[in-house]
Order: sequence, then C-alpha cells, then structure tokens
Amino acid sequence: MNPVVIAVAITGSVPRKSDNPAVPVTPAEQIESTHEAFEAGASLVHIHVRNPDETPSSDPALFAQVQEGVRKHCPGMIVQFSTGGRGRDQAARGSALYLRPDMASLSTGSVNFPTIIYENAPSLVSDLATKMQAGGIRPEIEIFDLSHLHGAKRLVEAGLMHDKPHVQFVMGVKNALPAEEHLLDILLGELRRVLPHATWTAAGIGAGQARVMQWALARGADAVRTGLEDNIRITKERLAASNAELVRLAADAAAAAGRRPATAAEARALLSIA
Ligand code: ZN
Repeated sequence: MNPVVIAVAITGSVPRKSDNPAVPVTPAEQIESTHEAFEAGASLVHIHVRNPDETPSSDPALFAQVQEGVRKHCPGMIVQFSTGGRGRDQAARGSALYLRPDMASLSTGSVNFPTIIYENAPSLVSDLATKMQAGGIRPEIEIFDLSHLHGAKRLVEAGLMHDKPHVQFVMGVKNALPAEEHLLDILLGELRRVLPHATWTAAGIGAGQARVMQWALARGADAVRTGLEDNIRITKERLAASNAELVRLAADAAAAAGRRPATAAEARALLSIA
C-alpha cells in the first residue's frame, strides 16, 4: 500500500475549550496531544499557539516550546508553523520563522472568511516567502481561492519559492470555497497546469472533513489533513475525544482507499524535507 502523510492541525485559532475541552491550548497540552496523534499515525503537525486566555498568539517563545517538545517526543515528525492571520498582528505572523520549523503555512492571497476579510497583502506574502526561503523552510501553500494558485506561481517566477511547493486546498470555509467534489477537480487541474511538480493535500472544514479527505485519497493525494483546528466533531451529536481520535479515522479512511499512514521518515521523503 502506498503511504499517505496524515497531517494533524491540533489547535487552530478558532475553537475554544468551551467548544471542545479536548482542544489543546497550553504548550504542554499541545505536545501531549501531538504525541498521541503521532502514535495514531500522524507524521506532520500544524501548529498555532495561544495566549493563556485562549486567544491566538504569535509569541515565538510558545512556538519554540511546542517545537522542542514535539522534536523530543515524536522523533522525525514534520513540524509546521502557521503564519495564518486570524486574530494575529500582521507584522508578527512571521516572527517565529527564525526557529526554522520544517514547514510553514503560506497564504498567497486574500479571501473572505465567515466574519472577516483574511488579508494577505502582496508585500506580506513576499516577506513571508522570503523568510521561509532564507530559513530553508518548506512552504505549504494554502489555497482558499483559485487565484491563490497563481499567487504561488508568481512567487516561483520571482525566485522566492522552489517550483515544488506543498499545496493545500482548503474547502468548506464559509464565504470561500465550498466543499464540492467537482471544485477539487478544477483546482487540481489548474495545479497540474501551473505548478506541475507540487505535492498536494486538501482540508475539509467542519462537517466536510471526512468527505474532502475521501475525495483527496481517491485522487492520490500526497497527504490528508485532520485535527481539531478544522473539525471538533465525530458526528453531529458527538464531539471528538482528541486529535488522536480524528487521526485514527483518517488512518481508517486511508486504509479504505488502499493507503496506509506514512512513517515520519516516509513523510519527509514524500514532501522532500531533509
Ligand atoms: Zn492553521
């Protein structure tokens, strides 16, 4: 069976403990939750950090603590920092990149989110891409709209990014791309045209998580994404008990598609990370 990278987005910037008590917020909770997810088959962790009051933070000291704990307890697991914008000061979004995580998320355009404009001005996009390139950090390009693929292509053309980035299609964010299967085909077709060497994955938000994962697996995605950042429920009635429970569901979905969770070493080879 071909391995598939299971990425776990453990915290995000939106869900609070009042939404699901399993959302890890402190670095200690985040390290423990990541370790459980790693044991369940996750090989990549996507990290946001939070202030003690659970609001989103950009504090490099928090990113450093989580990275150190993950590297210690989850050998080889790919560490990916979020540079996402929700609730964070624009100027601070790249402030933890000097810590040189393996990967970082990079949005290449703006889009409407449920209640705000997710702003990614051209100058910010180039600045973050420049920092990632200087630090040898592999970008994961977040695609909330078709135009963002072309934003990524422009970075390649400007020499600010390798021509083999990792690309994530994000579907099911209200006011952005809906979670519809034919849209994934359109996005993938355009990816093949403009960034033919890219690896790819797709994230379904909320109730779309399992569906989008199935569509991605059916199309041979290099990775799938799960975790409490995107979805806090197992069913409409039941909250997820942990990130690990969501990872186990992802491993089951992979098996149903004839795939198996990649080990950390396989994940690094698949995503070209040393
Ligand atoms: Zn995120």
